[in-house]
Amino acid sequence: MATAERDYYELLGVERGATEAEIKKAFRALARELHPDVSKEADAPERFKEVAQAYEVLSNAESRKLYDQYGHAGLKRGGFTPTDFDLGNLGDIFSAFFGDDLFGRAARGGAGRGGDTAVRLQIELADAYAGSTRRVEFEVASTCGRCDGDGAEPGTSPVTCPTCGGAGRVQQVSRSVFGEFVRAGACPGCSGSGRVVETPCEQCDGQGRTMSAKSLDVDIPAGIHDGQQIRLRGEGHAGANGGPAGDVYVEVRVADDERFERDGNDILAAVDLTIVQAALGATVSVPTLDGDVELEFEPGTQPGMVRTLRGKGMPVLQRFGRGDQRVIVNVAVPRRLTDEQRRLLEQFEQGSDEETYRRDEGFFEKLRSALR
Ligand SMILES: [Zn+2]
Ligand SMILES: [Zn+2]
Repeated sequence: MATAERDYYELLGVERGATEAEIKKAFRALARELHPDVSKEADAPERFKEVAQAYEVLSNAESRKLYDQYGHAGLKRGGFTPTDFDLGNLGDIFSAFFGDDLFGRAARGGAGRGGDTAVRLQIELADAYAGSTRRVEFEVASTCGRCDGDGAEPGTSPVTCPTCGGAGRVQQVSRSVFGEFVRAGACPGCSGSGRVVETPCEQCDGQGRTMSAKSLDVDIPAGIHDGQQIRLRGEGHAGANGGPAGDVYVEVRVADDERFERDGNDILAAVDLTIVQAALGATVSVPTLDGDVELEFEPGTQPGMVRTLRGKGMPVLQRFGRGDQRVIVNVAVPRRLTDEQRRLLEQFEQGSDEETYRRDEGFFEKLRSALR
């Protein structure tokens, strides 16, 4: 990884407001230029890696937003780790990003990394607070048990591809304004594997892989945010011809909780006091994610006042510490009065003057310190 962290937009040469398509286009163009098979520059592999990393971040709406708001530090805090691409296997980067092979190369020996898959998981705010383990179920392509993945009916074997003689690649010459460009492309006869199946396996029809249901227990870390993804490495689709399996991305959705509003790692909650409780002072029960707590409110508590319960918020993801819970006072005003209540309130009003409603010295200071 580069020592200095360069701006991802600058690396790709796009504006900050670039569309997804513009970002993809810029990356493709740069990748073609910097690909170590093409470029003779000594620093091409390093630059290629940087550009791939920039694309990985900016092509994902969630990580792009995080980067836009908080930069490199924000990505780290958000638990995002860029893929450390294996430069020996660059073709995989393209199949990972584009689902195709930009250079028409087949991976060595025809082995290809399996595709990634995604699954969505909904959890409650309480689960995000405490962390939990949940089971997810999804369908993946797995190696066929009948042919062990080679696609040939048991008792038979794949044979050497007659088109490429087993090399898996054929030379292609293309002409462009830049001149003649010779490149090795995947053999059309065997899709790059170098071997062809003459008697396809009955179970997988020669594909070597079959779809099957898979279930896994996923550890959800305490403090996870709505929309964050958990990567389960190597649990995705099986690779071709013994290649590594893809990954599973578990997208975690945190359901709304009617008692609380989440603000980053802080939790907001409202507490209702009657006008009498607010005027006379009261002890009331307030919910927190850690259970109810009793809170004492002074006589003369005003609507909009905020009480901060230190450390009663969400755990900070993958770090120590917790956010706070802020409790906002709402004062309920009676909507329907009996004749008797109306008479009492009128009587109270007649006995009131400026002094009744006079602000304490330092009222604003108190409010400010509560908000801090
Ligand atoms: Zn099979
Ligand atoms: Zn071939």
